[in-house]
Amino acid sequence: MSAQAGPSAGGRPVALVTGGSRGIGRAVVERLARDGHDVAFCYRSNEAAAKEVTDLATAAGARVHARAADLSEPARAREFVAETEQELGPVRTVVSAAGITRDRPLALMDDEEWHDVLSTNLDGTYAICRAVIYRMMRRKEGTIVTLSSIAGLHGNATQTNYSASKAGIIGFTRALAKECGPYGVRANVVAPGFITTDMTAALNDEARDRLKTRIPLARFGVPDDVAHLVGFLVSDRASYITGQVFGVDGGLVP
Ligand code: NAP
Repeated sequence: MSAQAGPSAGGRPVALVTGGSRGIGRAVVERLARDGHDVAFCYRSNEAAAKEVTDLATAAGARVHARAADLSEPARAREFVAETEQELGPVRTVVSAAGITRDRPLALMDDEEWHDVLSTNLDGTYAICRAVIYRMMRRKEGTIVTLSSIAGLHGNATQTNYSASKAGIIGFTRALAKECGPYGVRANVVAPGFITTDMTAALNDEARDRLKTRIPLARFGVPDDVAHLVGFLVSDRASYITGQVFGVDGGLVP
């Protein structure tokens, strides 16, 4: 199918989510499927998790296209976008949620830990946005949401690599909003605090309790706390909102 403006052949707008197999990305896939989108999502390797999400989104009425694609390689992002447009129709929304951590104090960090985090989180965000942006600008329609973190706003000890990648995503998205706004394309950042997913599963009870004392709402968030905001930001109800950074962190005090 050739790229054209408007919804997919099924009459539903098409959303593409990176890192859609688990955690926040998974909640976003489910949210957007329930909100009436057809959804494409990618993941690195977890086929079983991807199958579960595909079944849930299909049950919500969406056509779904899922594929393993390592976004640290820009060619995979280009293939994923081209394939999605062929399968589902023109991509109206991108949510860049794929991300990893490799925590270690800088004094002990090795080059691979630095490189892996920057290439997945920051280069991966670049790659998916680069692959889709000209198509959106040409159609004069599109919404992008990138996932940063409180670490990107305030920094986090043992996370120089992650904090740098997440701060980079904020600068990237703000610049992109200025470039593509005149073409009717919006771009915003969501910066979660501590959300209960596999990414935060390694924290022990003591660390959790300590963190909760810094969170005015006194709990970790759940993936739906983030997905609800993403659902709003990609909708027409947010049509005058671009270039912004939104915290979803229970009021966490840095
Ligand atoms: P998660 O549960 O660990 O899930 C990560 C997802 O990203 C998985 O779907 C994974 O695929 C995918 N992924 C990882 N590397 C990839 C790559 N190179 N190419 C394509 N997909 C890749 O993470 P999460 O906690 O939901 O986090 C989602 C986003 O929110 C991340 O950007 C993270 O930095 C950000 N965030 C999370 C928190 C938090 O507290 N959880 C806080 C602030 C920001 P597989 O299933 O195949 O591994």
